Amino acid sequence: LTGSEERPSVGAIKNARHPFYEHCEDTLDRIRQQGRYRTFTPLARQAERFPLYEEEYPGLPEGREVIVWSTNDYLGMGVVPEVQDAAIAAIRDHGAGAGGTRNIAGHSPLHARLEAELAALHGKEAGLLFISGYVSNQASLQTILSSMPGWICFSDRLNHASMIAGIKGAKGSSTVIFEHNDLADLEAKLAAAPVDAPKMIAFESVYSMDGDVSDIGAICALARKYGALTYLDEVHAVGLYGQEGGGVSQRDGVADQVDIIEGTLAKGFGVHGGYVTASAEIIDFLRSTASGFIFTTSLPPSVVGAALVSVRKVRAENWRREALFERVATFRQRLRAAGVPFTMTDSHIVPIPVGDAERCKRISRRLLNEFGHYATPINYPTVPEGTERLRLTPGPFHTDEMMDDMVRALATLLRAEGLMPTREVAQQL
Ligand code: PMP
Repeated sequence: LTGSEERPSVGAIKNARHPFYEHCEDTLDRIRQQGRYRTFTPLARQAERFPLYEEEYPGLPEGREVIVWSTNDYLGMGVVPEVQDAAIAAIRDHGAGAGGTRNIAGHSPLHARLEAELAALHGKEAGLLFISGYVSNQASLQTILSSMPGWICFSDRLNHASMIAGIKGAKGSSTVIFEHNDLADLEAKLAAAPVDAPKMIAFESVYSMDGDVSDIGAICALARKYGALTYLDEVHAVGLYGQEGGGVSQRDGVADQVDIIEGTLAKGFGVHGGYVTASAEIIDFLRSTASGFIFTTSLPPSVVGAALVSVRKVRAENWRREALFERVATFRQRLRAAGVPFTMTDSHIVPIPVGDAERCKRISRRLLNEFGHYATPINYPTVPEGTERLRLTPGPFHTDEMMDDMVRALATLLRAEGLMPTREVAQQL
């Protein structure tokens, strides 16, 4: 046989299905078999009745009302009338889209004002907006860690996927993963690294899935001792912690010790977009070199206008933060009184451990279908296998009645799954 006879004819190639289609099918089959196949639940938020949503429901033209316990709009800022009005006004005044990248006519006075506001929130010289929190992490980390030869990034084991994407995508740097929130492990690893290598410690304040909180001051002390730059993701903390909602670093009085503070406008501020704040030269460096900042259309005026009003209100008004923590405490008391197991955390996040992907999805589905409450099942790969859970984030607007109803529903469903502790265990909780 000659080489040309072994090759399929041009006609056969033309009509053959590309192997990628089969790859898609195999992958999806595997995901389904592992119980990890994701389905979306169509829920329309009712702005005037938050946290009530309408679920599309067969036979009901209006849908049906459900109570949502899993929103990341932790303070309900997305439905504050002044925030909504700012978005509408910005569209009327400036149009629906930004019309370009920041360099190509997509920069506006609103963008500049929002960046200045965010820098002030964190006590930094400057701020830079990105199209999402994901992109702010990915682009900033990748750009910084590709900048000088020999960077070593010390990365917390539970860092978010967007940080990992930036760290892994960096050219020429190496990564050392330290055990989650483990200062002794971090120090041992810093001490073992070459003294003269440029180092960074990348970590979060509130870890969103476990709800635990890092000791920012202690990590910064290690960073000083070993000459490392600090990069802190405050995505789940901004708006909620600190006198003005500047995050855990503000609450703990250590924001000035952190080199780069990253946040989102999409959770505590209820709008959309991501940002970093830092010294003027670091921000100017990212502005001038980060591909994920330069080559994409900037945030639309509606988003920037709404976020500006939201950040100003969150800085000035404490009542939503206080209400949130009061509600979380009340919810935990009621869970405890009913013997419903939950993981106690140092944050506003209330995980209900389930430990199995199928069960977790089943509880979530029955909660919605039979009781009208929605709580997202959190499965692998978001959390390790065997630690599947429901993740609840009660907010300022969940009423006592909603809580009682939810606690009853959870108790019923967890009992059906054999997940309610026996009376003896419950008494020790
Ligand atoms: N960091 C963390 C810790 C997150 O949990 C998330 C998103 N859930 C992001 C960054 C990305 O933020 P955004 O949703 O604004 O893209």
